[in-house]
Amino acid sequence: MTAISLGIPTVPTRLAERRKSRQIQVGSVAVGGDAPVSVQSMTTTRTSDIGATLQQIAELTASGCQIVRVACPTQDDADALATIARKSSIPVIADIHFQPKYVFAAIDAGCAAVRVNPGNIKQFDDKVKEIAKAAGDAGTPIRIGVNAGSLDARLLKKYGKATPEALVESALWEASLFEEHGFRDIKISVKHNDPVVMVEAYRQLAAQSDYPLHLGVTEAGPAFQGTIKSAVAFGALLSQGIGDTIRVSLSAPPVEEIKVGIQILESLNLRQRRLEIVSCPSCGRAQVDVYKLAEEVTAGLDGMTVPLRVAVMGCVVNGPGEAREADLGVASGNGKGQIFVKGEVIKTVPESKIVETLIEEALKIAEQMEKDGIASGEPSVAIGV
Ligand code: SF4
Repeated sequence: MTAISLGIPTVPTRLAERRKSRQIQVGSVAVGGDAPVSVQSMTTTRTSDIGATLQQIAELTASGCQIVRVACPTQDDADALATIARKSSIPVIADIHFQPKYVFAAIDAGCAAVRVNPGNIKQFDDKVKEIAKAAGDAGTPIRIGVNAGSLDARLLKKYGKATPEALVESALWEASLFEEHGFRDIKISVKHNDPVVMVEAYRQLAAQSDYPLHLGVTEAGPAFQGTIKSAVAFGALLSQGIGDTIRVSLSAPPVEEIKVGIQILESLNLRQRRLEIVSCPSCGRAQVDVYKLAEEVTAGLDGMTVPLRVAVMGCVVNGPGEAREADLGVASGNGKGQIFVKGEVIKTVPESKIVETLIEEALKIAEQMEKDGIASGEPSVAIGV
């Protein structure tokens, strides 16, 4: 039967169809095709310090990291890979620069994938046949990780600098060498520290190949700047359906990278939203301390795993409207807070009781959501004044 439009406008949930990419398997995590966009990070420990590296991987795993990369600059690091790969509960990718012998060591160690940088591995092109054979025999995917800071000297000379065209040509050239040996178990990154160049490079790459793409703004900077750069660049690409796995690079603990990555995906509806606090920025009309209220509610609901949306609004201008749209909300004014659950005012409490009432009601809703099997996200809180 044909659906009849009743003229009710629909709200889009996604900005674009996902680009059709081939799918590869990085250990237990599928990347590309219709697999959800995954979030990854990289350890900052010496890989040879197995205990410290596994500890950091455990922290990353707990924060939602799905794939982790470890550096491998020395033989001691290469020797540690097998134990780390075996004991990690998420797939481990070895990150190889300069020394091709470590590519083979990583494959032998059972790493879920190997990242190679064709720009700085000595005579990389001559090694591709052997790498393709070893990786193909072991079923290990390869990430061709081109980076503006270490672009192939030949292309640097040809283009003068790391332009989008140069980054793309480097990546596709290396991919073509693997293809000559029948190896296509590849994902690609073309990172640049300038989001404008980076976005253009990935757009060109996406148009010219069907390999899954690992997004990254390289050397994005300290947490604040790096978060903005990554959100802008990933947002521009993911909103066009481009990108299969993401790594936010911050000069900050890797767990922070995961938090930012997950938030970017949730913001674009590429992952179920977890706790979402909808709070207003406050203004001269505010009748409560919105910042304090938002912080206290957020802290009180920390760790919830259901997709709860909580609106904390400080005045009656947008308060009732936002509070009604959320699972739970408060609209404040005149020293009181109207508490909304699923759009209905369930009670009015004095200002001093707003936080505890919201938390109490949130726990009740979360319990019901868990009973109903809605437990794959976190709650969402809207805060407005
Ligand atoms: S909800 Fe009220 S206090 Fe908050 S920004 Fe809007 S008008 Fe200002």
